[in-house]
Amino acid sequence: MNIRRRKHWGWGFEDQQPTLAEVGATAARLAAHLRPALGEVALGEVEAPVPLDALELSAPRVAAPLSLADICAADDHVRATHALGKSYSDVVRGFRGEFFHPPDFVAHPRDETDVERLLEWCSAEHVAAIPYGGGTSVVGGVTPDIDGERNTGAAGSGGATGARGADAYNGAVSIDLSALNRVLEVDPVSRAALIQAGACGPDLEAQLAEYGLTLRHFPQSFELSTLGGWIATRAAGHFATVLTHIEDFVESTRAITPAGVWESRRLPGSGAGVSPDRMLAGSEGALGVITQAWVRVQPRPSHRISAGVRFERFLDGAECVRALAQSGLSPANCRLIDAHEARTTMAGDGSHALLVLGFESTDHPVREAMSRALAICTEHGGAVSEGRGGRSGEDAVSSWRGAFLGAPYLRDVFVAMGLLSETFETAITWERFPAFHEHVTAAVREAIDSVAAPAARGAGLLSCRFTHVYPDGPAPYFTVLAPARRREEVEQWAAIKRVACDAVIAHGGTITHHHAVGRDHRPWYDRQRPDPFAQALRGAKAAIDSRGIMNPGVLIDPLRDPA
Ligand SMILES: Cc1cc2nc3c(=O)[nH]c(=O)nc-3n(C[C@H](O)[C@H](O)[C@H](O)COP(=O)(O)OP(=O)(O)OC[C@H]3O[C@@H](n4cnc5c(N)ncnc54)[C@H](O)[C@@H]3O)c2cc1C
Repeated sequence: MNIRRRKHWGWGFEDQQPTLAEVGATAARLAAHLRPALGEVALGEVEAPVPLDALELSAPRVAAPLSLADICAADDHVRATHALGKSYSDVVRGFRGEFFHPPDFVAHPRDETDVERLLEWCSAEHVAAIPYGGGTSVVGGVTPDIDGERNTGAAGSGGATGARGADAYNGAVSIDLSALNRVLEVDPVSRAALIQAGACGPDLEAQLAEYGLTLRHFPQSFELSTLGGWIATRAAGHFATVLTHIEDFVESTRAITPAGVWESRRLPGSGAGVSPDRMLAGSEGALGVITQAWVRVQPRPSHRISAGVRFERFLDGAECVRALAQSGLSPANCRLIDAHEARTTMAGDGSHALLVLGFESTDHPVREAMSRALAICTEHGGAVSEGRGGRSGEDAVSSWRGAFLGAPYLRDVFVAMGLLSETFETAITWERFPAFHEHVTAAVREAIDSVAAPAARGAGLLSCRFTHVYPDGPAPYFTVLAPARRREEVEQWAAIKRVACDAVIAHGGTITHHHAVGRDHRPWYDRQRPDPFAQALRGAKAAIDSRGIMNPGVLIDPLRDPA
């Protein structure tokens, strides 16, 4: 049995929490590294998080029934760890002991029968049921804010939440899928595996490795996020081109809904109407609990090559990436990082953008593909990054990769040292990208400044990279780093985020390429989607979740309870 406990706030496990002195030492190093980028502004003393035994959680409104008691818990640790996701604001709230919406209890189903019994009880008692995978949502997807009070700054900017709280729920249960973590079956002929939804990245990869196989879906949250969470949020992983989102790997899905089992056939492809798998992908727990899925797997790649290419200007790099995305070469990695991000991740000196390019195959050598890709880069003014700046291309690529993998842990230190650090992401077609980038960057830079403390004006940093690229457009991913206004961080970020989301939607982007909608993106999602589609979604939910218990508030307003 796994007895490691997750930290009650932020990222990782209790046994990984550094001491205050260790946090202080890391913070001092980070402050020195970031000073050239952020200016001379003081980043402040390191603060300590509010400890678990000092939390004051609201009393549970409902208790687990006796028939489910053996799979349910309601201690402070379990309620706090399931009260928040992992957005910057969530980490700040957890750090400060502000758990405003803890679930009343947390259930750990052992099998589908437990899930069915839980949903039956929740329907009968009108208690909200919130599926919980790894809790790495960055959009308020797992927060049991069933009355719509989550303070994201979203309200008032496009308005969406009129019906919230119309029919009060009697409580909220977090349904933690972590016990459903097995690879159940492997089909080596069709190269697919049946995996339970609660398996987190390392769990499922370790089990697949026994067969010499891999799913090769590596979101940055890989360590803690789960297959069910990936499908429910349409997560995007390792591949920068072609197979980007998890649904590209899904062969069939099985979910328990309040109206019964939703299971699709295993098929390599199907033109039979609206896809039952695609409908569950991105359903964010609003339709049912995904319990398992058949996913396409592959042998581990044996041919791999990567390179770093420098560009004087980010937009020159973008033009090159467009050519690469339209070349049919399909690089596995094609991440363009602007000069600011290259500097903060120690992959550059701030004078140039960096393209991290990679090819891999289980079957054939990839040198030729890389040669042609590098030729395209040269045609667009790129330089394989040896020489100037003193770092080889490989060095720059590994620096960036190291920073990428360590980022989830660093965020906790940033909060402790008073550094605001958060991201937003989108996708846009190529012909609109340059203007889009200019407008969004200008609006967000101004917002960062306008909410900064007077001494910190001009010290904030906005950077951009491409996480995924398509023949018709990139998925730009923006990172904000700025001195935080201590104890006002949530409001400070909400103000910046509001401007960012408004700008993204106004200039034609999507409110999210892979971070999902959750509760936080609702106002902008409502503006983006067609009204008849929203009606169809409401109708579908009403048909299978007539009491509206499934994760109320994500994707659509809570349904009015007919009872
Ligand atoms: C540091 C960091 C890095 C990240 N990097 C990436 C990235 O590279 N790519 C990316 O796509 N995302 C990324 N994310 C966002 C997040 O990890 C993804 O949204 C992920 O898919 C969530 O998976 P999870 O298991 O943690 O789900 P949770 O956070 O537990 O849940 C997310 C949503 O899915 C629902 N859900 C979860 N499990 C199920 C289930 N079994 N059945 C039905 N509904 C369910 C929940 O109710 C909720 O609405 C990152 C987040 C962080 C904090």
